[in-house]
Amino acid sequence: MRLSPAQIWRTRIPRYRLLGKECKKCGRRHYPPRPACPYCGSRELVEVELPRTGVIESFTVIYTVMEGFKDRAPLIIATVKLDDGTRVVAPITDAEPEDVRTGMRVEAVLRRIRDDGSYGLIGYGTAFRPTILVHKTS
Ligand SMILES: [Zn+2]
Repeated sequence: MRLSPAQIWRTRIPRYRLLGKECKKCGRRHYPPRPACPYCGSRELVEVELPRTGVIESFTVIYTVMEGFKDRAPLIIATVKLDDGTRVVAPITDAEPEDVRTGMRVEAVLRRIRDDGSYGLIGYGTAFRPTILVHKTS
């Protein structure tokens, strides 16, 4: 019996957590984690678990995609403002471009983002999908 990569991932990590960094100097958070604070340049960072839900602040639809991403076209890339105010740029999944709206509530999910040719290496990354209840933030 072969396990799918998604099953293997679930076996390794019981619960998917969105881990970012919080700057001890200016207090701002960022994701994905970087070696230095993107706002003030400080390297005094602590790991924090970010909220997995937020709203779409802006988005763009990309119709021409690179090799390895073709099954994901069109690709919707959004700036998501998490519930703690942290902004994350990530793909939107489980939605058609015409369904995506600014202010739409989304939640973080783990998605296959890359299929790396003949070796079958599959990259996983954070994507966001609309939550079932859509709240307008007007
Ligand atoms: Zn900082």
